[in-house]
Amino acid sequence: MATTTELQHTVGKGAGFSGTSLHTGEKVSLKIQPAPVNHGVKFKRKDLPDEPTIDARIDNLKMVERATTIGEGSVRVHTVEHVLSALSAMGVDNATIEMDANEPPIGDGSAQPYVDLIKRAGLVPQDAPRKFFSVREAMHVEAKSGALLVVLPDEKFRISCTQAGPNNRLTQYLSTEITPAIYEHEIAPARTFVYYEEVEPLMEKNLIKGGSLENAIVVRGEAVLSKEPLRFPDEFVRHKILDIIGDLALFGARLCGHIIAVRPGHAANADLARALAREHARAAALAVPRVFPSGEGGLDVNQVMEILPHRFPFLMVDRVIGFEADTKITAVKSVSINEPFFQGHFPGHPVMPGVLQVEAMAQAASILLMRLARTSHRVGYFMSADSVKFRKPVFPGDTIFIHAEITKTRGAKLAKARCHCVVNDAVVSEGELMFTFLDQ
Ligand SMILES: [Zn+2]
Repeated sequence: MATTTELQHTVGKGAGFSGTSLHTGEKVSLKIQPAPVNHGVKFKRKDLPDEPTIDARIDNLKMVERATTIGEGSVRVHTVEHVLSALSAMGVDNATIEMDANEPPIGDGSAQPYVDLIKRAGLVPQDAPRKFFSVREAMHVEAKSGALLVVLPDEKFRISCTQAGPNNRLTQYLSTEITPAIYEHEIAPARTFVYYEEVEPLMEKNLIKGGSLENAIVVRGEAVLSKEPLRFPDEFVRHKILDIIGDLALFGARLCGHIIAVRPGHAANADLARALAREHARAAALAVPRVFPSGEGGLDVNQVMEILPHRFPFLMVDRVIGFEADTKITAVKSVSINEPFFQGHFPGHPVMPGVLQVEAMAQAASILLMRLARTSHRVGYFMSADSVKFRKPVFPGDTIFIHAEITKTRGAKLAKARCHCVVNDAVVSEGELMFTFLDQ
C-alpha cells in the first residue's frame, strides 16, 4: 500500500488572504482552492473576462528578471515563486490559485503567509500516486551571471546553496534536506532581500510600487535595513533556497536529487527547471512498457491511414499502441531493410535518416491532434523543430517507439509537442515540434 507521502495531495477547503502586490502596489486577494488529481497548480485570474487560467509549468515561463513570471496568450501572473515554493515544499500537488490581480500578495517577502494559508486550508491525500523524478546522472546549468546549479543523484530532495552578494559580500552557505517540517521552520520565514544599488533605479522608475521595508530586507553597503531584525543570521541563503524550490516547482514532478547551487538566481533556476523537464520526459518515455497491448486502446495501420494522409514510402507510423489522457500518444514504427531510404543511406552501412525520425514524431503527434479535434479533414504542417537531437543510430530490424506529448495548443490551429523516439530502452532522437493545421 502506498504511504501518504507517495500520494498526490490537494487542500481540504478554500482559504484566502489579501495584501499588496510588489510591482504594481495594488491590493490583491488570493484564494487557494482544491483541485482533482493530475491537475497540478493553476493560477486563475478572477479579474479578467472568462477568468483565464495559467498552468504553473515551465513551458509557460515568460520572464525571470527579478521575479518569475508565467503566462499563456496575453495573460500573465508575476512573482509566482513564493506561493509555488510553499505549495511544492508543503506537499500540495493539485490546487487552483485564484487571484483578482496579476501578482500574488507579497506579504512580508517570505513564504510564511503561504505556509499559514496551506495549513488553514488543510492537506488531503488523493487517489493517485505522486510523480517523482529521480535524477540518475549528474546534470548542471551555468549562467552568465556566474550562477552554477548542479544536481546529483540522491534518494531525498536536498539543497546545498552558496549565496554571495556583490564583491562576495554576505557570502552564506546552507545545506539541508527539504521536508515540509524543515521548510516550514527553516526556509519559509526567510524574507526577500535586495541590494540598494539594484533597486534604486527601479524605485526611480516606479517599477516596485509595493516595495517597502515591510516586505524586503534592503542591503546598503554594510548596513542591513529591515523592519524587524534578521530572522536567521543566514536569512539570505535561506531565501535563495526558498526561491529555488519555487522555480523548480515549474518542472512538473517531485525531485529526488541533491541540488548544489552557487549564486543562484531566477534565470539559472529556470534553466535547471527546463533541463529537468526534458530529462523527466525522456525518462518517462523509457518507463513505458515495451509491449503491444491487445485489442482496445490503440490503432492498427488501417485506422492510422484513416487519420493520416501519408502513404508508402512516407507513412512512418505502423500502429498506435496507446493514448494517455488527451495529451500523450505512443506509436510504433518497425524499421526493415526493405525501407527504400536504406538503398542510398548509406550503401553498405544502412542507417535510418534522422529527419525521418522527426517525420515519425510529427506523424504521431498529428494523429493525437486530429483525434483531439475529431477530424481528419485537415493537414498538419510543420512550423518548426527545436532542440532536435539524434543520440543513437537506428538500424534495420529496430522497432521505434514514438512518444509525443502535446505541451501547448492555441485554438485548433497551432500546437506544440515534445517527442522522443526510443529503441531498445534508449532514446535515439528527440525534439520539440510546432505545427499549424489547415483544412484540406
Ligand atoms: Zn524570492
